[in-house]
Amino acid sequence: MANYAGGEWLAAAAAETLQDRNPATGEVLAEVPLSGAADVERAVAAAHAAQPAWRATSPQNRARALMELRQLLDANRDELAAIVTEDMGKTIDDAAGEVGRGIESVESAIGTPHLLKGDNLEGVARGVDVEMVRQPVGVVAAITPFNFPAMIPLWFLPYAVACGNTFVLKPSEQDPLASLRMFELIDEAAIFPPGVVNLVHGGHDAVNALLESDGVDAISFVGSAATARYVCSTAVAHGKRVQALGGAKNAMVAMPDADPKLLADGVTSSAFGAAGQRCLAGSLLVLVGDPEQQDLSLRRVVEASAALRTGAGADSGTDVCPLVSVAARERVEGEIGKAEGEGATLVLDGRIGGGEAGAQLGPTIIDDARPGSPALAEELFGPVLTVLRAPDLDGALELVNGSRYGNASVIFTCSGAAAREYRYGVEAGMVGVNIGVPAPVAWFPFAGWKDSIDGDLHANGSDAVDFYTRKKVVTSRWK
Ligand code: NAD
Repeated sequence: MANYAGGEWLAAAAAETLQDRNPATGEVLAEVPLSGAADVERAVAAAHAAQPAWRATSPQNRARALMELRQLLDANRDELAAIVTEDMGKTIDDAAGEVGRGIESVESAIGTPHLLKGDNLEGVARGVDVEMVRQPVGVVAAITPFNFPAMIPLWFLPYAVACGNTFVLKPSEQDPLASLRMFELIDEAAIFPPGVVNLVHGGHDAVNALLESDGVDAISFVGSAATARYVCSTAVAHGKRVQALGGAKNAMVAMPDADPKLLADGVTSSAFGAAGQRCLAGSLLVLVGDPEQQDLSLRRVVEASAALRTGAGADSGTDVCPLVSVAARERVEGEIGKAEGEGATLVLDGRIGGGEAGAQLGPTIIDDARPGSPALAEELFGPVLTVLRAPDLDGALELVNGSRYGNASVIFTCSGAAAREYRYGVEAGMVGVNIGVPAPVAWFPFAGWKDSIDGDLHANGSDAVDFYTRKKVVTSRWK
């Protein structure tokens, strides 16, 4: 696998590689180069060289390049979805949805010229006017996670280049094939001048080289909370602008008046879709009401979860795909075992067992977890749902807002008043009402709160344009 810098495919100077495997079969799909500083600097230098001319390209023509990119991705959406399934493991439908969401980010970024317009105020003193213009930040890099290998790179590339920046992508080393294919398509169609978009494969060394490079002006990151904190603090220490979207522990509140089907479908698809490997996955279920009502809601969710089919993402009957790797499955099983050892009840046990399971783990539901245990407080990033109980909505809000994370939260209810109270009081940036996965469309920011983001500006929507531009305020007097 090669890196892409200055419009050329280049073998990495670093000799070390990592095997990228199909999570469903264990087949080795690629040897991913673990690029180092020399490889990163080649891409950054190419981006630097290309930036002045790209900045001078009109906003309309930059948007037109994105129109071409949108058509190209649309024409190849089935192939890209198949690559996502093979490389990351999620089901074909889920992968198709992911690619569609990525294309929506391109569509949203096509409107960037509107958001690039400045402001002015005439006559702040006699003959003196003020205008604010937006200019690109320069060279920007994105570091992306494994769980949305096609969509998340597209949260950044389109807006970055629409604003006149040049761009370096470092995709997840666990499943970089969708990014690779998108760059091949971009290269074949010559959508951008050489150096406007660049691709560097690798892991920690490549990330550190980007964070420390004098040639990189801004970093967009998506990944786990611990890495986000590290990336944010390191980027800031090197004088860079940064947005670092981190992990999550999303709660779903089941009110006693919830529609039974919306509740069962919404909770199971949120907790177990993509094997729980979404930053919007609901991993806590808060049962509200008297004990009898709580038990009834739980029974409905357990029955629907037990009916889900676990299997390879490429099989059309599969509901719950494998985890991204055997190591990930072992880690999540370790957390389930730990909760069980501490006295929790496994209402549903999805462990299939040993080496036979590959990366596969079925839906698992944990009740009576010890307060403060990882199953309650931390992101396990697997098909695991932990149950909590509250007598009423106030109690549910207190439990939910006790989390250090604030990515998403969901309420299932037939009461507008309850939904309104929840929406008003919940400390999360993306809220669902009778929707299990409240993923905003690309014209809105992907709006996590608390430890689910380090930095102020989110991905997508007008936040992206704020992040990828610097404001310049000009005060003029003409005689
Ligand atoms: P990760 O943090 O392990 O990796 C993300 C990126 O950081 C990768 O490109 C990886 O190469 C790099 N990286 C990892 N550890 C590093 C280190 N110590 N030093 C330097 N670079 C490092 O995350 P992941 O497992 O790929 O992705 C899953 C995580 O991403 C979950 O926590 C999930 O919630 C989160 N996520 C968040 C959002 C969001 O919008 N908030 C969206 C998707 C995923």
